Amino acid sequence: MALTGIQIFKLLPKTNCGECGVPTCLAFAMNLAAGKAELAACPHVSDETKAQLQEASAPPIRPVTIATADKALKIGGETVMFRHEKRFENPPGFAVLVSDTMAEAEVSGRLDRFNQLQYERVGLTLRPELVAVKSESGDAGKFQALVDKVKLSAKCGIILMSTNPDILSAGLKACGERKPLLYAATKDNVDAVGSLAKGNACPVAVKGANLDEVVALTTKLTGAGVNDIVIDSGARTLRRAYEDHVWIRSAALNKKFRPLGFPTIVFPCEMTKDPMKEGVIASIFVAKYGGIIVLSDLRGESLFPLLVERLNIYTDPQRPLATTQGIYDIGGPDENSPVLITTNFSLTYFLVSGYIETSKVPARLLVMNTDGLSVMTAWAAGKFVADAIAPFVKKSGIADKVKHHKLIIPGHAAAESGGLEEELSGWEILVGPREGAHIPAYLKAWKP
Ligand code: SF4
Repeated sequence: MALTGIQIFKLLPKTNCGECGVPTCLAFAMNLAAGKAELAACPHVSDETKAQLQEASAPPIRPVTIATADKALKIGGETVMFRHEKRFENPPGFAVLVSDTMAEAEVSGRLDRFNQLQYERVGLTLRPELVAVKSESGDAGKFQALVDKVKLSAKCGIILMSTNPDILSAGLKACGERKPLLYAATKDNVDAVGSLAKGNACPVAVKGANLDEVVALTTKLTGAGVNDIVIDSGARTLRRAYEDHVWIRSAALNKKFRPLGFPTIVFPCEMTKDPMKEGVIASIFVAKYGGIIVLSDLRGESLFPLLVERLNIYTDPQRPLATTQGIYDIGGPDENSPVLITTNFSLTYFLVSGYIETSKVPARLLVMNTDGLSVMTAWAAGKFVADAIAPFVKKSGIADKVKHHKLIIPGHAAAESGGLEEELSGWEILVGPREGAHIPAYLKAWKP
C-alpha cells in the first residue's frame, strides 16, 4: 500500500534545507506521494528510510525494459496524466507484426521495411523498435524458425506471441538473450507463462477479457515474484481500448492502485483492416497512454507522422530541444565559403541548415548555445546579442577556417550588427535574410 504524504513526511529529516528543489520537507513529501518527485532528490535520507520509502517513491506505473540487440526499450515509469503537469517519461515502442503463417516474401518485406524506415530529425533517429512474432500455426518448430529469422534480420526488440507455453519456450530458445516480451499470460496459462518469464528474466504481458481479469493476473504474477509486466486489457475496439487506457492510467496514478500500475500493449492492427485508420488509431494511443503499439505493417506515410507525433509528445515541455553548440560544415565548404550564425533551438538549426543545403552553396553554420531558444526569443532574452555572440565566435575557431572574415547574422538580429563589428575587430558583419526561405537566394549571390 502506498504511503500518504504525511506518512512520508514523518520519515524525512524535516530540516527544510530545500536541496530537493522545493522549500520544505512537507512539500517534498507531498510531491513524492503524488509521484511527482523522486526520492533520490533528497540527499539526506538514511538507507533505512530509503528502504521504507521504496514503495512510495516508486513510479506509480512501473518502468519495464524490453532489451533490443543494441539498446533497451524502456516503457512505463509515467507519473502524470497530462504532459503539461510535468512531462511524459518513456515514449511508446512501435512494433510490426509477423506471423508464422505468412508467406516468406511478406515476412521479408515487413522486416525490410522495419530496417529501412528510419528518419533523422533534430539530431535523433526516429524508428520503430520492436518486431512482434506471432504463432498462428501452433507449430513450435515453425515459430522458432521465424524468431530466428527475425533475430538475424533486424536489430530489434522481440515480442513472442502465443498463449502456448511450449511455443513461447521454443521462441525463447531462439532469442532468449534479447530478453523478449512474452505475450501473453492469460487466466488459463498464467502459472506456466509466469514461471517462464521468471526463469528467463523476461518481461511478460498479461491479457485479460476485461480489467478485472487483468487485475487478477497481475496480482497473481507479482505474488509469484514476477514484476516486469505489460497489460493488454483485451479490448479490440477503439472506444473500449481508449477507455481502458484512461482507466489504467488514472487508477495507477490517482488511486495508487498497484495491480494496474504497469505499461500497456495495444493492437491497432487488430482493430481495423484499413491501413490509414490503423495509423489514426495508433496516433490516439501515442497521445493516450499506449506503452507498445503493434502495427500490421510499416508504411512511410503513416509511420513518419506517428514517429514525429511521439517525438513531440514525449519532449519535455520545460526544455526546448537543442542542438549542440559548434561549427557545422554543410556541403563540403572551403576557406572561401560563407559563414552563418544561428541559435541552438533545434527547429531553427534544422530549418537554417536545410535552407543552406537547398542553396547548394557549401557553407559553415555556427550554432550558438542559447539554451534552446530561437533567434528572436534569444535576442529578446539577451542571449543572442553582440556581447554574447562575439566571445563565442572568437572561441569557436572559425577565424582559422576561412580566409575572409565575414559573418552572416540572421535578419532578426540585425540590431546587433554594429555592436558585433565593434566587438569582433577585423570581421565584417553581414545581415542575412529575416526569413529562412530567403537564405538560398541570398547565398547564391554570396561573394567572399
Ligand atoms: Fe527536506 Fe530532504 Fe528536501 Fe532538505 S532535501 S528539504 S531534508 S526533503
